[in-house]
Amino acid sequence: MSTTFVIAPPPIPSLAVEGTQSRFAVNRIYCVGRNYADHAREMGHDPDREPPFFFMKPATALLTEGKDMKYPSLSKDVHHEIEMVVAIGKGGSNIASDKALDHVWGYGVGLDMTRRDLQGEAKKMGRPWDTGKAFDQSAPCSALLPVSQCGHPAKGNISLKVNGEIRQTGDLAMMIWNVPDTIAYLSTLFTLMPGDLIFSGTPAGVAAVKVGDLLEGHVDGLPALKTKMV
Ligand code: MN
Repeated sequence: MSTTFVIAPPPIPSLAVEGTQSRFAVNRIYCVGRNYADHAREMGHDPDREPPFFFMKPATALLTEGKDMKYPSLSKDVHHEIEMVVAIGKGGSNIASDKALDHVWGYGVGLDMTRRDLQGEAKKMGRPWDTGKAFDQSAPCSALLPVSQCGHPAKGNISLKVNGEIRQTGDLAMMIWNVPDTIAYLSTLFTLMPGDLIFSGTPAGVAAVKVGDLLEGHVDGLPALKTKMV
C-alpha cells in the first residue's frame, strides 16, 4: 500500500549532471568553515590554532541552472564564498581517510552566500548561524561531474569573477583539511548519506555583492557556475 500524504510531498532538490538528462538528488548540505588559511586570517582567526568546523544549509537553499539570485531580505552585507562542492554517493559513519574517496560520487562548484551582517551579529551574541548562512537561495551550485570524468580534484585553481574581474582566487591544494580528511571527520559527527553535499570552504577575497553583479565561479576541470544578483 502506498503512503498517503496529508499535503503534497515537497519536490526533491537536485543538481544537473553535466552532459546528461539525469539529476543528482540532494539530501543535506554540510559546509566547512575556515578551510583555507588565507580566508581564516582575513576573518581574524589563526588557522594554526583552530580546526575547521561545520554548519549546514537546507537542500532547499540550492539555486541551480544558472538562475538569478534574488538579493536576500534583512541584510545589507551579502558576501560571496566560492567553494568546491563534494557530492556523496555512498553513505557511512566513521569512514577512514584512506577509504573516504570511495564515498564520493562527483564534484561541482558552489557559492556559500552569506548574510555577513547577520552572521556577525550571531557570532557576537553566541547564537546559531542559520539566518546568516541558511537562507533561501544561499547555495548557488553548478552541474556535477561524476568522478569517472573528473577524478578527485586535489589541486588546481578555484576562483570567482564578479562582473568579469577576479575577486577570489586560490588553489585546492591550499585546503587545511583535504576532501578525504573532511569526509572522515564529518562522518564521525554524522552518518553521511547518499545525496549529501559538502561545501569544502573558501579561499581569501570574500566581499559584498550588489544587485546587478554577475558572479562566475570556476574550479579547474569542473562545470562552471554562474548567477546574477537581482
Ligand atoms: Mn563558506
